[in-house]
Amino acid sequence: MIYETNSPEETFRLGETIGQKARPGEIYTLMGDLGVGKTVFTQGVAKGLGITEPISSPTFTIIQEYEDGRLPFYHFDVYRIGDVEEMEEIGYDDYFFGSGICLIEWANLIEEILPENIIQITIEKDLEKGFDYRRIIIEGMDSL
Ligand code: ADP
Ligand code: MG
Repeated sequence: MIYETNSPEETFRLGETIGQKARPGEIYTLMGDLGVGKTVFTQGVAKGLGITEPISSPTFTIIQEYEDGRLPFYHFDVYRIGDVEEMEEIGYDDYFFGSGICLIEWANLIEEILPENIIQITIEKDLEKGFDYRRIIIEGMDSL
């Protein structure tokens, strides 16, 4: 599925819809360059899950957990990870194979430990279509 947005609000709302529909145990991966809108999208997902705590990028912590929504939400950012060993250290499998929702930014860096049934989201810019244009490609999900 391919979605196109032309403002941060639209990207937020797409994330929100996904958060509203998310089911226990799902793993979402989020790919895209810096500044493309991964955090905006994630904030939408959190809103859709009913999370009221503010969502920040877990840049220095790998994972941030939110428990006040409809389902537990585990927000990973593995941008600074050196080795997948670090994922073992935080006990990632409890999150990946639990009944909360995982969302992993820069998941390509930990490809070797990703399960098969994941929903892959890629956000891209296309400057020819304007500064605020984003193409959001969602793979591995039936429909919205
Ligand atoms: P990332 O987490 O991918 O590094 P952020 O979500 O922090 O990126 O930032 C995205 C930036 O792009 C924000 O400043 C946001 O306002 C801006 N932006 C402009 N157009 C869009 C759009 N269509 N979708 C998402 N963000 C957009
Ligand atoms: Mg970010």
